Amino acid sequence: MTKLRLAIVGAGPAGIYAADILLRTERAFDVSIDLFERLPAPYGLVRYGVAPDHPRIKGVVGALRGVLDRGDIRVFGNVEYGTDITLDDLKRHYHAVIFSTGAIRDADLDLPGITAEGSYGAADFVSWYDGHPDVPRTWTLDAQHVGMIGNGNVALDAARILAKHADDLLTTEIPANVYDVLKTSPVTDVHVFGRRGPAQVKFTPLELREIGELNDVDVVVYDEDFDYDEASREAIATNKQVKVIDRVLQKWRELPSANNAGGSASRRLHLHFWAKPLEVRTDDAGRVTSLVYERTTSDGAGGVIGTGEIREQPLGQLYRAVGYFGSPLPGIPFDERHGVIPNHEGQVLAEDSNDILPGVYATGWIKRGPVGLIGHTKSDASETVSHLVNDQGSWWQPEEPTEEAVTALLESRGVKWTDLDGWHRLDAHEVALGEAEQRERIKVVPRDEMIRISRAE
Ligand SMILES: Cc1cc2nc3c(=O)[nH]c(=O)nc-3n(C[C@H](O)[C@H](O)[C@H](O)COP(=O)(O)OP(=O)(O)OC[C@H]3O[C@@H](n4cnc5c(N)ncnc54)[C@H](O)[C@@H]3O)c2cc1C
Repeated sequence: MTKLRLAIVGAGPAGIYAADILLRTERAFDVSIDLFERLPAPYGLVRYGVAPDHPRIKGVVGALRGVLDRGDIRVFGNVEYGTDITLDDLKRHYHAVIFSTGAIRDADLDLPGITAEGSYGAADFVSWYDGHPDVPRTWTLDAQHVGMIGNGNVALDAARILAKHADDLLTTEIPANVYDVLKTSPVTDVHVFGRRGPAQVKFTPLELREIGELNDVDVVVYDEDFDYDEASREAIATNKQVKVIDRVLQKWRELPSANNAGGSASRRLHLHFWAKPLEVRTDDAGRVTSLVYERTTSDGAGGVIGTGEIREQPLGQLYRAVGYFGSPLPGIPFDERHGVIPNHEGQVLAEDSNDILPGVYATGWIKRGPVGLIGHTKSDASETVSHLVNDQGSWWQPEEPTEEAVTALLESRGVKWTDLDGWHRLDAHEVALGEAEQRERIKVVPRDEMIRISRAE
């Protein structure tokens, strides 16, 4: 065989890096890649997860775009695996498939009252403020005190967007409807709750520092949280990242706002450590009124135990940022516990037997779980691609491996796919919308409109 016809499903960083790495890998065969993406725009969570006020990270788009613009990967936007194209179709037209479908939804949190009105998953909020076309356009921000459960970067992102004054986001690419809602927010206090201590957080120092730099927002930390035990002291002494985080937090202990004693800003972002959520309380109408939590303490081995001291924080809204979770794909094994496709270094495994499924691969968050930065998807992709290349003997034997057969199939199904030129059109349109208001870009949100602009209809 002289040519590998490969389908990649999911045009986030993992899928795009996998295509790039394969095309640049030394190999004894030619490659032709079709990249399928359910949205009319590529880049996955870089476009629909990374916060709008992180333009530096959004800059990764430049590198991803460079890969696509080389022109050796066919892009099929607005094509959903499982609906518009199936596993049988892929087997008929390709030698193999790599799934790089990432994760978009919130992991569940088993907490009484968590489904109350006014209690939200951070992933939904992120999708909303990043203008994801498949989530409701409206969001209600009607609370003065808002809670955020979680001590990772997504919790900080979402807390920062909630605390920040809308006008300070105006230079970013936030959609107009998002600005309008943020502008009306009555929020005064955002409370971030973590089960463990300051030396065990999952934030990265850069993200943490950022909340100290917000205009007219005071950070509030509490002295009672810094009574370090041996395990915490050891973590600070031996881990550079923890050391920096501790240094940042210690500085904040000296602010007038520490212990909620003063400060001059009109909004506050509180960090509550050693706080294990127990229950979301509601009013008679079922709306969130408070979070009940137990103070915890170190168990000496990196975990926590309850102290029996119960506290209650009145809240009008509550968000949970306890991780993302992958979604199952039709015909493909799924690990329900971890929210990933079961795999060995990217080779997909049968659900019951752990045998390798020929021709089926995974990379990125759907392979490894929803942790890690964009850069990690590169090494991930290398591992998966090296197996794909070495597995040549076990690829599928497609009946119709031509490029035309795929476009004919989508056409016969009436799928309105968008291609790379279409993405360029949409991209240019968004940049032009932004230019008119001295902003880098303004995102087009409704799916229909994205498709119409892409297809020049
Ligand atoms: C809120 C948030 C903020 C983040 N901020 C940062 C940051 O500041 N810096 C950083 O380095 N990393 C950040 N990350 C992490 C980064 O976004 C991920 O590491 C990376 O996006 C994972 O890449 P992926 O390609 O595996 O998945 P994704 O980016 O999720 O891409 C998957 C793609 O697959 C598509 N897809 C899904 N199902 C189908 C289907 N059935 N058919 C066709 N296509 C499908 C999706 O639409 C999506 O485009 C952040 C993540 C989140 C959630």
